[in-house]
Parts: sequence; structure tokens; C-alpha cells
Amino acid sequence: MSTTTGFDSLKLNRQLLNAIGDLGYETPTEIQQKVIPPALSGQNIIGIAQTGTGKTAAFILPLLRTLNYAQGDEPRALILAPTRELAIQIGNVAIQMGKYVDLRVVTVYGGKGFSDQKKKLEAGCDIVVATPAQAMELYLSGHLVLKKIKHFVMDEAERLMDFGFTGQIYSLLEVLPRKRQNMLFSATFSERVKKISDDFMEFPVFIDVVPQVKTAAKIEQFIYTVNGFQTKLNLLNFLLTDKENFNKVIVFCKSKKNANSVAEMLLMKFEADGINVLHGDKTQQTRVNAINRFRDEQIRILIATDVAARGIDVPGVSHVINFDVPLVYEDYIHRIGRTGRAFASGFSVTFVEPQDEWHIKKIQKLAGISIKRLNLPDSVEQIQPGKEETKLREMEIDRQKRKDNPEFKGAFHDRKNKSGRKGRHAGRK
Ligand code: AMP
Repeated sequence: MSTTTGFDSLKLNRQLLNAIGDLGYETPTEIQQKVIPPALSGQNIIGIAQTGTGKTAAFILPLLRTLNYAQGDEPRALILAPTRELAIQIGNVAIQMGKYVDLRVVTVYGGKGFSDQKKKLEAGCDIVVATPAQAMELYLSGHLVLKKIKHFVMDEAERLMDFGFTGQIYSLLEVLPRKRQNMLFSATFSERVKKISDDFMEFPVFIDVVPQVKTAAKIEQFIYTVNGFQTKLNLLNFLLTDKENFNKVIVFCKSKKNANSVAEMLLMKFEADGINVLHGDKTQQTRVNAINRFRDEQIRILIATDVAARGIDVPGVSHVINFDVPLVYEDYIHRIGRTGRAFASGFSVTFVEPQDEWHIKKIQKLAGISIKRLNLPDSVEQIQPGKEETKLREMEIDRQKRKDNPEFKGAFHDRKNKSGRKGRHAGRK
């Protein structure tokens, strides 16, 4: 009954192969092919892979295979993830893949349900998936016993550090048993990631499935050159009118403010299709509900900021629209990785204003790609930006030029001087 031929050679057992078959996976992804064998032989692993590559199963399957069956009350594997959403998602993968295996998985992420999580830990478990702060809190309160941990996984290591968890991670590393297997996954291998891996891993096998900041090949990426916020709104409106193609869309904004403005505009026309906004001000429950409704296709459009969107794993996303260009370049990869997951294809569309060109150049250089430009459709009304927007743009472009060339004074600076006021940098050498 199983159609898991591609997984057969990976030395997993029948229970796992059946669960993989139930999920409909036929071929292991590249990261799975490369990580599973050394992970099964107990080696330390650094895996450079973005989300969407199948990295979760790459570490979950060997853990399930090695732990094999429930034993004692104290966990033997600890997986850290930067967000609750990602922790929940990893926990779900472990439960789905381990459905024919007798192993207990507990996901710990605080907030509502924290006391239930404590009870589950007390009842005994084999694998704990946790956000670092909650892991530390439960360790300190005695609910999470770490002395039996034999396998330690850090998922999305660079994000864990971005979110300020470095201190907690080092504290946890202090109290984990020394003899253990370590696996670290990260979208990029930055200096920080290198440092932390040097600090806690010996002789890791280094697996890099996508060269640094390379994007998944399955995603077709496009750029529209757009002049100003209002025109971006018009273009978004135009694209989303094509409901057949743009049937499951995530719109990324750089700030809560922009996310709310975009939502307000879209609600006027597309409310009936279902629209939700995800940003840091929303409660955890609201965020989880929004993602579930998006997954179940009760809503067509999800508007999100980068932080709020971490760990969203929703299949079948037709388009990722970057309403704003991300200024943290890795976020570009994370964002577009929401579409075209695993073996599916997807599209990304990025709106680029003049002040974004500098960033787009860098994103393309880092990713080693050239993103195709499309002409603005004729029916999209172009609205010239107002004075304030234009001024901010000029200042930003000047700032960029100064970064490239510290001698550069800039148009904005000249104008200020001409108008009789001293520029901020006047008099500086
Ligand atoms: P991840 O990178 O772990 O977040 O996985 C991305 C998506 O790929 C998830 O929706 C998984 O269910 C799916 N996936 C993982 N491995 C496979 C596989 N071998 N075949 C098909 N889909 C997969």
C-alpha cells in the first residue's frame, strides 16, 4: 500500500514509511536525502536550508527512528524554534510522522494552554518542541527535566538569535547533558550562526542544500516598478481582482501601519473573499485562527508583517506579494518561500519604488538571481506621491548614496543649504 519508494533506502522503519505514505510524500527532498543518513548515525549536523525545503521532516524522521518507542518520563529530545507557530508546526509534523510509533510529543510555547503543557510534560514525554523562553521557564520551575536529553535541535537558528534568544540558548546548553547529538538548521550561515555552532558542536556534518540566500527554483519571481504608496495600492487592487489565479495570497508589508492600511483598502472590495491581517499586535489565538482559516481556504488574502509570518506553513499559496520590499534581505527568501513549498510551484511579485532599487540590487546579488521586471498594466492608475512621501524618499536615496560613498552630500542636503538652512552634515569633513 505504501508508495514511499524514494524513502525506502533511508533506513527508516515500516511505521515511519507508512506515515510518510499517508502524508503523500513520494520522494525525499534534497535536505532529507542528505540529512537523514548522518543523523541516523548520530552525527552532529549543520543544515543550511530555508523553510519549504522539507527540513522539518529531515530532523524529525531520524529522531523518531532513533528514539523508537516511549521510554521513561523524561524527554530525550529537545527541539527549539523561534516562534510559537513554528513550534506548533514542528510538533504537528512529529505527531503526523510518528502516528504509528509509540512516542510522546509535547509542544511548549506559553500563553494560553501553558498549564496544560506543564501537565503533559509531567505525564511523561519523549520529544519536546519549545520556544526558548518557555523551555527555560519550565526548566527553572522543574517541569522540564533535561538530564535525559540525548538529541538537541535548533531550528531556524538565525531567527532564534534575531529574536534575542541567544542568552537563553546558551543557558540551556549549560544544563543539557554533554553527551548528545546536536542538529542546527538555519536559512543562512551567518557569522553568528557559525559562532553558536562552533560553541556547541564538534565535527558537524555541513549540509547546504540551497547555496546561501539562493531561492527555491520553483518560485517564479517578478518585479513591478511602482511610484508611490497609492499606486502600490492600485496595483494590488488590480492583481487581486484576478481571483482565479490569485486564489491564495499572502501580502507582505514592512510595518503594522502599512499592513493595516492595505487591509483597510482591500476590505472595501474583497471583504467577501475573506481577508485577515497578521501582525505583532494580534493575540496569539487570533494569529493561529487566521492561519488556520487561510489554510482551510476560508480566507483568500492574508496580510502579514515579517515577524508575524514566521513559521506559516500553508500549502497551495498561489502568490506572495511583497507590497513593501523587505529591508532584511533574508526576509525576502523567507517571504517568497511561503509559496512553492516542497515540490509545488509558486509566484512572487515585488513592488519596487525608486528608494527600493538599492535594496533590490543587493537582494538579487546575494541570491544570485535576476528578477524579471513586468510593465505596470495600463489600467492601473498612477498617483504621484505627495510632498511628504517624496521628501522621505529623497532622504532615503541620499542615505543610500552616502552609505555607498561617504563623501556624497546629496540632493536633499543641497536643497536644504540653498534654502539658507544648514544641512545636517554641513561643515563635516
Ligand atoms: P518544511 O521545509 O519542513 O517547512 O516543509 C515544507 C513543506 O513541504 C511542508 O508542507 C511539508 O509537508 C512538505 N514536505 C516535506 N517533505 C516532503 C516530501 N518529501 N515530499 C513532499 N512534500 C514534502
